[in-house]
Amino acid sequence: VVLAYATLLEEEAIGPMREHLGQVVQAAMQLKSIIDEMVSLRHIDTGEAQVHIAPVETAPVVGEVLDDLRLLIARKNQKIELDLEDLPPVLADRQVYHLILSNLISNAIKFTPDEGRIRIAGQVDGGQIVIAISDTGVGIPEDELGRIFERFYQVEDSLRRQHGGIGLGLAIAREMAELIGGRIWAVSKVDCGSTFYLSLPQAS
Ligand code: ADP
Repeated sequence: VVLAYATLLEEEAIGPMREHLGQVVQAAMQLKSIIDEMVSLRHIDTGEAQVHIAPVETAPVVGEVLDDLRLLIARKNQKIELDLEDLPPVLADRQVYHLILSNLISNAIKFTPDEGRIRIAGQVDGGQIVIAISDTGVGIPEDELGRIFERFYQVEDSLRRQHGGIGLGLAIAREMAELIGGRIWAVSKVDCGSTFYLSLPQAS
């Protein structure tokens, strides 16, 4: 209700009021995503997360995720490169696959400066499909790479702290990936960028 009314008011407002209401909308959206993240974790912890595993094509799911994020990408004037052609389908729960890709791709956008590049590529590796999401962003120090998948962990740095998350996105992505038989890991170099890999079984 807060989000809906604030959006309505923002659309109708003029002058500085519009800007203030824009901030209310943004804060309400952040609050919503924190609540969604908490609910996802609770579902994992209680074993209530129900998954339906079936063959899923990657390109349409990535397309939907990019569509949701298009305003952010346009605002940052970032370039997205896709290499998903002829990729066989993965075995996954479509909704969970969407959630994982959405977390990884939105992080790539968040932690990459304006004009940066993000590449989403897939390849087959011995019965597994490996999706690589590479960015040209701030990178992650090597000694913290293992910890970023912990719940509530954030790399301490004022540049990154300006972002709204609370350190749950990657924990959810990894736990959800494991729930559907997949794996997530990352390689990174500070100031050069990061690549997050998601591996899932190939659907035969
Ligand atoms: P948040 O919602 O705070 O972004 P995440 O669990 O998604 O939490 O990520 C944890 C931390 O890992 C982030 O706060 C950030 O420091 C780091 N991180 C995640 N993705 C990237 C990336 N693509 N580039 C650089 N740092 C990243």
